[in-house]
Amino acid sequence: MISFEEARTSILECMRPVGIERVHLLAAAGRILAEDLSAPWDMPLWDNSAMDGYAVRWQDCTNMPCTLRVTGFLPAGAKADGITVETGCAVRIMTGAPIPDGCDAVVPVEEADDGQQKVTLREPPQKGQHIRFRAEDVTAGVIFVRSGTRIRPPEINMLAGFGMALVPVFRRPIVAILSTGDELVELGRTPGPGEIINSNTLSLAAAVQETGCIPRIIGIARDNRESHVEKLGEGLQADVLITSAGVSAGDCDLVRDVLEELGAKQMFWKVGIKPGGPTAFAMHGSTPVFSLPGNPVSTMITFEEFVRPALLRMQGHQRVFKPLFKAVLRDPLWKKTGKVQMVRLRLEKEHGRWFASSAGNQQTAILKTMIDAQAIAVLPAESTSFAAGDEVDVHFYGNYIELESP
Ligand code: AMP
Ligand code: MG
Repeated sequence: MISFEEARTSILECMRPVGIERVHLLAAAGRILAEDLSAPWDMPLWDNSAMDGYAVRWQDCTNMPCTLRVTGFLPAGAKADGITVETGCAVRIMTGAPIPDGCDAVVPVEEADDGQQKVTLREPPQKGQHIRFRAEDVTAGVIFVRSGTRIRPPEINMLAGFGMALVPVFRRPIVAILSTGDELVELGRTPGPGEIINSNTLSLAAAVQETGCIPRIIGIARDNRESHVEKLGEGLQADVLITSAGVSAGDCDLVRDVLEELGAKQMFWKVGIKPGGPTAFAMHGSTPVFSLPGNPVSTMITFEEFVRPALLRMQGHQRVFKPLFKAVLRDPLWKKTGKVQMVRLRLEKEHGRWFASSAGNQQTAILKTMIDAQAIAVLPAESTSFAAGDEVDVHFYGNYIELESP
C-alpha cells in the first residue's frame, strides 16, 4: 500500500500532453496554450484618440482662453494620411481615429464649446493627453502570452486583435471508460434480480467532460477473461483508460491481471485512502490506466483526487490540485489511523471563516451524501480524532458556488 501523497506524485510523474492542435480562437476558450506567442505588430498600430473631441497642437493652447480654427473631421475608421494641422488649427476627432500630423493632445468635447468651424477650449491641455500611443500596449515581437496560459476572454481579445484565428493548444485526450461486472445492465434496461444499472460509466463520462477531455464509452466487461481481454484491449486504443470495479481482491476481480497480460506495467495498487483503497494505476506504453473501485462513491472520489489532476496535467494545466483551505468542524470526527480519510461536508461562511458539518451518512455505499456535499475534508493518515472547533483541510466539491452569494 502506498500513501495518498505518493500515489498522486507517482501519477503526475507519468502524465504528458498527448499533442498540440491548432483550433479556432473561440474553440480555444478554456484550453491551454501550447506555444509562446509574440506580437506580429505594434498594439496599437498608430497613435489614436482616446476621446471624442479635438486633436490640437499643445503649444497653441497654453494661454486661455484659446480659440482654434477647425480644419477637418476624423471619425473612427478614417485615415489621417495627408491631414496636417497647422498652428492655430484643430481637427474634430472621434475615439479610435488616428492622430493627425502636428497634433500632440486631444481635448475632450466636454472641455470645449463643441464648435464646428471654430472651437474655444475651457482648460489648457496637458501634452500627450487622451492619446493612445503606438505600441503602448504591446510592442511588435514581444511575447504577449506564454505557453501554459489558460485561454480566457482577455487572451481571446488580444489574440483576435492580432488577427490570430487559429491557436496552438494542447490536444484534449480521448478517455476510454470501461465498467466491469456481471451485475451491470445499461441505462434503459430494467434491472432484474441481482442486477444494477451501470451508473458509473455515465458519471465518469460527465466527470471526464468537466475536465475538458473527450469521453469514449467502451461499455461493460463481463466477469470473465475473454470479455476483459476484448474490452480492455479496446479501451487501450484511447489516450487514457479508466475502468471501474473488478480491482479488489475478489474472485471475479480480473482487471489488474488482464491489464498485465496485455502488457501494462502496474505502477501501484492499493492506496492509503478511505474511501477508494483498492485503486490501481498502470501505464500501457504511454497510455495511463486508472483502475478505480466500483462502488460509485469510491469511483467518484478517486476520480476527483487522482484522475482529474492527471487529466488536467495532460492538457497542459500547471495547477491541477484544488486548493485546500481551513474549515472549522461543527461536530467531532473519529477515524482509524493509517489512511487519509475523505469526508463529505457542507460548508457555511460566518464572519469570514468557513464552518463545516457532515453532509450526511459517510458510509461509502451512501451516494446521496455525494450529492449533498459541498466540500471534501482530507484528514491526515496519522490523525484519529478531531474535536468540534478543530480546523481541517478541505477543498470544494460539487455545488459550492451558492456558498459565495451573500
Ligand atoms: P466490485 O469492485 O466489482 O466488487 O464492485 C463494488 C461495488 O460497486 C458493487 O456493489 C458493485 O455492484 C458496484 N458497482 C460496480 N460497478 C458499478 C457500475 N458500473 N455502476 C454502479 N455501481 C457499480
Ligand atoms: Mg465486480
